[in-house]
Amino acid sequence: MAETSKPRLLVVGAGPVGALAALYGAKRGWEVEVYELRGDLRDASTTPLNFTKSINLALSERGINALRQTGDHRLLNIILSETVPMYGRMIHGQDKHAKLTEESQQYDVHGRYLRAVDRANLNKTLLDAVDGLPNVKLHFNHKLTGTDFRKRKAWFEQKASRKPQTADGAQTHQVQSDDRAKEIEAVFDLILGCDGAHSSVRFHMMKFTRMDYQQSYIDTLWCEFTIPPASDTSSSTSSGEDGFATSPNHLHIWPNADKMFIAIPSIDKTFTCTLFAPSVDFTNLEKSSSDVLKYFNINFPGAADLIGGKELHKQFNENPHLPLISVKCSPHHFGGSGVILGDAAHAMVPFYGQGMNAGLEDVRVLFEHLDTQHSTADGRALALNSYTKERVPDAHAINDLALANYWEMHAGVRSPLYLVRKKIEEFLNDKLPSTGFATQYSRVSFSNQRYSEVISTVARQGKILFGGMLATVLIPAMSWAVWWLWRWRQAGHTTETATKYFAGLGILDAVRTVMSSNGERDIEGLSFTLQYPRSN
Ligand code: FAD
Repeated sequence: MAETSKPRLLVVGAGPVGALAALYGAKRGWEVEVYELRGDLRDASTTPLNFTKSINLALSERGINALRQTGDHRLLNIILSETVPMYGRMIHGQDKHAKLTEESQQYDVHGRYLRAVDRANLNKTLLDAVDGLPNVKLHFNHKLTGTDFRKRKAWFEQKASRKPQTADGAQTHQVQSDDRAKEIEAVFDLILGCDGAHSSVRFHMMKFTRMDYQQSYIDTLWCEFTIPPASDTSSSTSSGEDGFATSPNHLHIWPNADKMFIAIPSIDKTFTCTLFAPSVDFTNLEKSSSDVLKYFNINFPGAADLIGGKELHKQFNENPHLPLISVKCSPHHFGGSGVILGDAAHAMVPFYGQGMNAGLEDVRVLFEHLDTQHSTADGRALALNSYTKERVPDAHAINDLALANYWEMHAGVRSPLYLVRKKIEEFLNDKLPSTGFATQYSRVSFSNQRYSEVISTVARQGKILFGGMLATVLIPAMSWAVWWLWRWRQAGHTTETATKYFAGLGILDAVRTVMSSNGERDIEGLSFTLQYPRSN
């Protein structure tokens, strides 16, 4: 039976994924309540998330598509207008004369690009879009402490909210007279856990369902740095343009064996940079931080000049050195009452720039399932079940791809084999689109193909390419063999000896026969001279 009243949607976490989920629910007329642990990030007094989250992210098709599907084109335009296009990677290095080098690698043969976006701005714009809607209530400073998925109840600890201060430091409102946290209870029809990698909703869901859960840390830490605008640095590179210290339309990479440094442009003409390196490098530099400049000059030539030696040192010491977590779990839901989205369901290493994009895509996919089946509580259970069935393999797939892309970013970008494959796939995609060839990167970043299908399609594509490459080697080799055979027979030898010669494992015997017929004797070992059959 269809529900008479609008379902109550409870969203936990007002990060990018939670804010978008609230908007999707609100657009469908649901009664939406959002509970967020921190203060409202639109308040100047709220501690920014920057101390745990990268400020600049790469927004790509999946994220944009999820925003587009809200149907709010004004919102999408505001978000896109505050992004910087990145058409490709700029690979930084040094030649054998210690001269700095830059090599631009376009992301996509059709000119499609990533967009650098300020995470906080994106989050604020999404919160603005839901705030004030008659069917949405936002509760900041509320921490989820418990959930009963059967009784459809959740409990929150409400932190005493301190109001913003005036310029002279006086508080505009009294701090709540009772400074202790208060517990409140909320009821829901559906709870969405959008509360990040260390999700409380997930933790409580595990008590209700047999959830497989896997969490791992890679042995790489990250630390953020900032490259100031060109005018602020005395040593901007020749490629600096438009007030940026270096090319603004690239994602800059300084690759190295087991570490890398990247820089992403911002609309304020700075670059947000990230050092990714093994934990032992961090330990050594923390012990002797005067070595930071030397470390950068050896491993990422030219990068320190863009930041400035003093700043480099300061930022390394002041900014946190953070781990990279990867989470896989299944299922993502319980019955018809709860589901986890975004990092709560699939935190991943950031090397494909897909964490947030995948989280925003979760919202689109979830509501597609709900739209077709949600009109009753039973229907919602079916919808969540089919959502998990579709989304778990995709979440696992992008998790694996993200990990694998670390190699591509710090080593693959310089591997000839990788570059050859990229060129062939791009050529086929551009000149022979009917072949359906496309690089893995463009499928992940510029399409909405399911991540799990990207893996299987690319594997199939790889086999065809490998077959093609083999054929390009084998066909000339076989033509040569036929010609050689013909000459061989002309020289009066029998086909039998030649066949033996070409018969895989019998090759040494065949060669031995050939050699003895040519008057040679000892052909053991690898150093022998193969005499060409004489012609008549
Ligand atoms: P979060 O952003 O973590 O938000 C969760 C929210 O829940 C927070 O506001 C938190 O305060 C709140 N919360 C937590 N616990 C509770 C509780 N108990 N009660 C109530 N509220 C709670 N992704 C990309 O797509 N592109 C990139 O280029 C990219 N680069 C990255 C670079 C780095 C170095 C890192 C670390 C990540 C990167 N990511 C990138 C990933 C991206 O940051 C995350 O995937 C994204 O922020 C996840 O959004 P979310 O809303 O799911 O979770």
